[in-house]
Amino acid sequence: DARKTTYKRVMLKISGEALMGDQGFGLHPPTVERIAREVQSVHEMGVEICMVIGGGNIFRGLQGSAQGMERTTADYMGMLATVMNALAMQGALEALGIHTRVISAITMNEVAEPYIRRRAVRHLEKKRVCIFAAGTGNPYFTTDTAATLRANEMSCEAIFKGTKVDGVYDKDPAKFDDAVRYDRISFDDVLQKRLGVMDASAIALARDNELPIIVFSLDEPGGFKGILAGEGTYTIVE
Ligand code: UDP
Repeated sequence: DARKTTYKRVMLKISGEALMGDQGFGLHPPTVERIAREVQSVHEMGVEICMVIGGGNIFRGLQGSAQGMERTTADYMGMLATVMNALAMQGALEALGIHTRVISAITMNEVAEPYIRRRAVRHLEKKRVCIFAAGTGNPYFTTDTAATLRANEMSCEAIFKGTKVDGVYDKDPAKFDDAVRYDRISFDDVLQKRLGVMDASAIALARDNELPIIVFSLDEPGGFKGILAGEGTYTIVE
């Protein structure tokens, strides 16, 4: 059972859309700041924090390719969008006095550090929040897969997937009143039932490395810290 209250190192994955507030697009600085405070409260517990932020609030490769762009070009644009989000989060965390590093899978030395595993581990040991940007650096992947990959590489104990709802449901709770939340569900059930927790390659990568995924609501104030302390509602995929 991965349910525990003494995490040493975790991965927080949020979508780009989590940063756009009610705007429907882009970045909403007060929302970025609110999430930074959630991260701060966990940082204060002494937990080492990795972060991956998506790019969907700015650009998604699939959308671009549906509109006639070449898929790989569109995917690189999506990866660049994640760098913008990472910089926004870095700024908000540093305004709170937290040391951070943005580590990019695509080299852009003026903006972010290149990804060097041992160096990233060292940052974590020094309690710097590491924000992994530019996804995996490869088209045809998602930031969910990037989060799972980096979580494995950094030996995180779990992936915390912050969403709009407090876990994984058997059907969309926004559409169905009788939707039921799972306390616990297996990786295979998530894949078989196509429960949209993360894309299938991310789920498979987590399953094969026995890395639990904890799905929780990012809208709940104090929720991230609460779950690390063993409180609140969430779903654990393990
Ligand atoms: N992307 C990619 N490779 C990666 C990660 C991301 O090509 O390893 C691109 C892809 O086009 C994706 C976009 O970046 O649509 C934004 O990432 P994602 O859709 O995962 O963001 P989220 O939905 O979490 O905001």
